Amino acid sequence: MSSRGCSYHCVFCHESALKRPMRQRSVGNVIAEMKCFLLKYPQLNYFNFCDDTLVTNPRWLDDFCREAKALQAIKPFQFYCEADVASLSRQPEALKLMVDAGLNRIQIGIESVDKDMLKIYLKNISPEMVETVVKAAYDAGVQQFFGALLVVGDPLKTGNILRRTRPLVPSCCGLPRG
Ligand code: SF4
Repeated sequence: MSSRGCSYHCVFCHESALKRPMRQRSVGNVIAEMKCFLLKYPQLNYFNFCDDTLVTNPRWLDDFCREAKALQAIKPFQFYCEADVASLSRQPEALKLMVDAGLNRIQIGIESVDKDMLKIYLKNISPEMVETVVKAAYDAGVQQFFGALLVVGDPLKTGNILRRTRPLVPSCCGLPRG
């Protein structure tokens, strides 16, 4: 983990309830730990980041991608992370840097593709932003993309909203390879 917490406040999320600010390790500290593990364990070639979202801080992400890419010279590796749409839609070009740094699988929180529900959830995203991120991930060469985190079954989501949502899902989620 490179961080704890999240700078967003989606109403359904435990991070919103905890109300603690995001705490992030320095890039140097994270890279040093990755290097240590790569040297210690000969079989190791994959990192699974468990942060709520790895992409909220553009400067941090830029530095991390540069240093992780350099770390590949010691031993090739790939990694998985979770990411939020709001941050990535402001910097979709970061996905290419992330892939160059070893990213091959990513998960984003879509929750709904209905504008009204996104507003209720305080998601700070729109269906257009989701499409921007999905397309950027596809263009960057992300091999597997998990975006099916649709909140289904909450009491506010009526049959009408689910019916409106259904046709939009393939257009958002049909692009990625995995
Ligand atoms: S962006 Fe993700 S981790 Fe952050 S509050 Fe929203 S659902 Fe939780």
